[in-house]
Amino acid sequence: MLIGQGIDAHRFAPDRRLILGGVEIPHELGLEAHSDGDVLLHALCDALLGAAGLGDIGHHFPDSDAAFKDIDSRVLLQRVLQSLTERDLRVHNADLTVVAQAPKLAPFIASMRDCIAADLGLPMARVNIKATTSERMGFTGRGEGIAAFAVVLLDDSGLSAAL
Ligand code: MG
Repeated sequence: MLIGQGIDAHRFAPDRRLILGGVEIPHELGLEAHSDGDVLLHALCDALLGAAGLGDIGHHFPDSDAAFKDIDSRVLLQRVLQSLTERDLRVHNADLTVVAQAPKLAPFIASMRDCIAADLGLPMARVNIKATTSERMGFTGRGEGIAAFAVVLLDDSGLSAAL
């Protein structure tokens, strides 16, 4: 098994859609980013890359590259998963946390789990998503943005078998 963690944060901005875990969430503000700003999928991608020893999302998808402008982060996730597949690495499970003062995310957790589990090819029970506030402390607490944390476990038994 290989463990990886990912952390990301994005600032709120007007005239942007709020996309978290591949799901559009009704809110007056979205997240500023070169991509669609899906902070949860970015943390997940970083955790996957970290577990595989493949660096980070900024290295693979630089925001200086126009090809990634407003890109759907699920496409980035698919590319990361492709890199894992090429290395015979399989995702075992993912545990994800979103820190946001607003909006209330509880009504959207099931949809996000569904979406991410489908993308990872895992049953929903292997994809956990938690949402919390930071009790009005810090940048998330002041409503300046959203932070996300991800921990994943990869199964490298396919790789070991090939060696
Ligand atoms: Mg990001």
